[in-house]
Amino acid sequence: MEEIPKSHPRYQSLIIREKISNGMKKGLVHETGLIAHGRGEAFDYLLGKKTQFFADNAEKVAAAALLAAKGPVISVNGNVVALVSEECITLANSVPAKIEVNLFHRTNERMSILVEELKKHGAKNVYGKKADARIPGLDHDRGLCDKEGIFSADVILVPLEDGDRCETLKRMNKKVIAIDLNPLSRTAKTADVTIVDNVIRAIPGINRWVEKLRDTDEKALNDMIGSWDNDKMLGDVLSFVSKRLNSMY
Ligand code: ATP
Ligand code: MG
Repeated sequence: MEEIPKSHPRYQSLIIREKISNGMKKGLVHETGLIAHGRGEAFDYLLGKKTQFFADNAEKVAAAALLAAKGPVISVNGNVVALVSEECITLANSVPAKIEVNLFHRTNERMSILVEELKKHGAKNVYGKKADARIPGLDHDRGLCDKEGIFSADVILVPLEDGDRCETLKRMNKKVIAIDLNPLSRTAKTADVTIVDNVIRAIPGINRWVEKLRDTDEKALNDMIGSWDNDKMLGDVLSFVSKRLNSMY
């Protein structure tokens, strides 16, 4: 990895960029993942590169939904593995939830590289390679998934998901938790719970809430989930961003 001086004012962003670029060199990240990362960075600027109150609230509800689920799955792609594989494994162990690699641009080779990378970071069981089921309504290989994984999950955490697939998962009656820095994306608008935060902060954030809520009874968890208003939260994001921009100059 190229040396980045710690004193650089954007040290953290540069480290993340290096991770994405190395991820691409290792075959984890697809070239369109670089473009998606850039889109995310632009929105992170607008949010002040911090977990704002609406994201913390969504992370809490996400933790409640994962804890209350019968078969929760964390769906990961190239960017997620390049940035937060250890954090995803920690979260999967602590809920507990299954991890499935689910790729928009799927090749067997990329699938194997991603599964191996997760195992190298300590994941015991990674779903996705079997591809013995199909998300109905999605053509080509992007609709493939595992019967024991995403196909039968009731709650699914999709960090950085495409809008099309998010809509299809919803049509399968799954509760979808998305992490997406763009509050205007189709994914952000379609998910049941949208965490408008950088995945590098959101996954550890959900995990902190999982630890705090672990002993909460099911009724209280369901009350938290039932009273969540995702549209209101997206409105809060837009008003936060516009107020923040207006107060800057
Ligand atoms: P959609 O398909 O939902 O309408 P899109 O086509 O713009 O949106 P995709 O490429 O399908 O987006 O999904 C990637 C999303 O992930 C983008 O909205 C981008 O802002 C977001 N994103 C990229 N990097 C991060 C990150 N580090 N943390 C959180 N979100 C991110
Ligand atoms: Mg998309």
